[in-house]
Amino acid sequence: MRDTELYRHLLGLESPWTVARVELKVAKQHVDVWAEHADGAQWPCPECGRLLAVYDHAEERVWRHLDSCQFMTYLHAAPPRISCPEHGVRQVRLPWAEPRSRFTALFERLAIDVLSETSVLGATRILRISWDEAWLLMERAVKRGRAAKRQRAVPHLGVDEKAIAKGHRYMTLVCNLDAGTVEYVTDDRKTSSLDTYFVTLSPEQLKGIEAIAVDMWEPYLNSIRAHVPEADDKVVFDRFHIMQHMTKAVDTVRKREHRNLRAEGDERLTGSKYLWLYSHENLPERHEDRFEELRCAHLKTGRAWAIKESLRDLWSYCHRGWAERHWRRWYFWATHSRLEPVVKVAKMVHRHLDNVLTYFKHRVTNAASEGLNSKIQTVKQMACGFRNADHFKIAIYFHCGGLDLYPAQATHVIPG
Ligand SMILES: [Zn+2]
Repeated sequence: MRDTELYRHLLGLESPWTVARVELKVAKQHVDVWAEHADGAQWPCPECGRLLAVYDHAEERVWRHLDSCQFMTYLHAAPPRISCPEHGVRQVRLPWAEPRSRFTALFERLAIDVLSETSVLGATRILRISWDEAWLLMERAVKRGRAAKRQRAVPHLGVDEKAIAKGHRYMTLVCNLDAGTVEYVTDDRKTSSLDTYFVTLSPEQLKGIEAIAVDMWEPYLNSIRAHVPEADDKVVFDRFHIMQHMTKAVDTVRKREHRNLRAEGDERLTGSKYLWLYSHENLPERHEDRFEELRCAHLKTGRAWAIKESLRDLWSYCHRGWAERHWRRWYFWATHSRLEPVVKVAKMVHRHLDNVLTYFKHRVTNAASEGLNSKIQTVKQMACGFRNADHFKIAIYFHCGGLDLYPAQATHVIPG
């Protein structure tokens, strides 16, 4: 088989395209391949599909293709242009690449696979592309995936904020709780941040939202109320966030108590911070003895912890009525505990109780997206070189968006 024929097969080129010539540059470790088309071929207008003869050719362009063994392989061609009576002079679609891409569709596909498995920096080394090229590939993949996404209602949404980098910069994340994917990411955590998501939805999509799990955060609530019909029946202040507030309260109690004990030379709470943060059943075995001892020591922290653990039971009831009964008992206990941080959280939850108990209708919680959260955490860690928030957003969509990222052409060429 001649090398031109070999490359025609490797590139998956079909009539009227053929390979005219192949050049091997051993010193540079390059293979250059020139594609040509037969004379007299007719080309569809990219806008209307009308078949037309070649008008002229654009300047020769180069696309990076999959390596031939270790040789970086470049495809060269002069794209034909047609002159459509309706759409004017246009470049025709090329079967091997998307418009404006500097890579063939098959290379993009490989790059997407590599970028899905490793950090951007790692991918640049494996693929021998630049940092900017890697981001461009990711950005294109995300754009393509988001454009191809079918606009349908997401019945169960989770809205969450995410701190980015150090300092107090936040992002708002909207998740599809059933699919475990990120629907939308935007800057900040204001009412207007979440507004930018809702305005992209059609009235049907807004109506199709059945429940939204969210933290007790006024700006988000305002946005939900402004856009989602019957919002008050759909908002669920979720378990995950409420327990986060409660766990923080236990930690505040511990800090204060530890300071006071220490002043009297009592070091019992030294190094105990993380013991109190575990749920009871998640406490590692090696800490059990020490924890039991502390728990039985009549400390304020122990009481706060017990109150926290009891609050968790609220969500284990099958019926709202039983949960309400549990709540009344718990609320009495918490508000009479004389533990100021605990009382504060209890009162905050009480003020929002109606939308805590909507849980028993919808049974949604952001904890369901905990897997997603840890994935985002990984994305963040790989973000050591993100340089800007836009890159972080692209990476979240890329890794957590559940999008079809591949260029369409790449699926045509690969059998199966
Ligand atoms: Zn046309």
